[in-house]
Amino acid sequence: MSERTMSPTIDRKQASIAANLDSVRRMMATAARAAGRDPEDGSLIAVSKTQPAAAILAAIAAGQRHFGENRVQEAAAKWPGLRAGQRGLVLHMIGPLQTNKVREAIEQFDTIHALDRPKLAEKLALEMAAVGRSIPCFVQVNTGREPQKAGVDPLEVDAFVRRCRETYGLTIAGLMCVPPLDEDAAIHFAFLRELARRNGVAGLSMGMSGDVESAIAFGATHVRIGTAIFGARPPKDQPEFHEGG
Ligand SMILES: *Cc1c(COP(=O)(O)O)cnc(C)c1O
Repeated sequence: MSERTMSPTIDRKQASIAANLDSVRRMMATAARAAGRDPEDGSLIAVSKTQPAAAILAAIAAGQRHFGENRVQEAAAKWPGLRAGQRGLVLHMIGPLQTNKVREAIEQFDTIHALDRPKLAEKLALEMAAVGRSIPCFVQVNTGREPQKAGVDPLEVDAFVRRCRETYGLTIAGLMCVPPLDEDAAIHFAFLRELARRNGVAGLSMGMSGDVESAIAFGATHVRIGTAIFGARPPKDQPEFHEGG
C-alpha cells in the first residue's frame, strides 16, 4: 500500500492528479528500463472506482486514456457521460463480475479482467454474440489460493484457458492476479508470468499502487493503479474486498 493516506481537500486532490500521474509514469519508465524493457511497453490503468467525474476528467486532461472500474453499476452511471467527446478512452472492468451483469458490462467496458469461472465464460460468449461486440478477457488467477479471493485455482488455469478459447471462443488477452497482502508480490508475479507463458497468453494484468515496480520487472503489460493517482479510498473499496455472488 502507498504511504499516501492523507485526506487532501477535493480541490487539492484534483490539482494533484496530473502530478501523481506524472510521477507514476516516471516510476514505471524507470522500472521498465531497469528490467531491460521498453518504457512504452506497459499500459497504465488508472483505477477510478469511487472517484467523482471531476477527478477522472482531471486525469483525462493529463493525457490518461486507460481507466479501471470494479462495479458495472457505477461504471454505467459515470462513463457514458465521461466518454462523450473523448477519443481513445479504454475502460477496463477489473472487479468480480456477476453473470446477471454481463450484458451491461459488455456494453460499458472494453476489456474484462476478472474472468474466473466457466459459467461466466459461457455467459460472456453468449452475450457478446447477442450484443455483436467481442471484447478481450483476462483470466484472474488466485495465485495465493486465498479462500476469500476471486480467481481460478493455479492448478486449473491451463484447462480453464483452453476451455475459454476452444469451447467458448473467447479472446484471452492475458492473466490477472491480486497477490496476498502479507506476501512478497514478486513471487506471485513470477508465477503468473510462467502460467501465461505456458498457455501462450500475452498479457499480464498485475501491479497496484504498492507494487508497480516489481510487477513491471516481472513483465506486467497492464498495471492497475488507483491510490497513487487519485488518493485514498474508503476502506471497503480496497481490492481485497469482494461482494458475494
Ligand atoms: C482497487 C483495485 C486496484 C487499485 O488498487 P490501488 O492500491 O489503489 O492502486 C487494482 N486492482 C484491483 C482489482 C482493484 O480492485
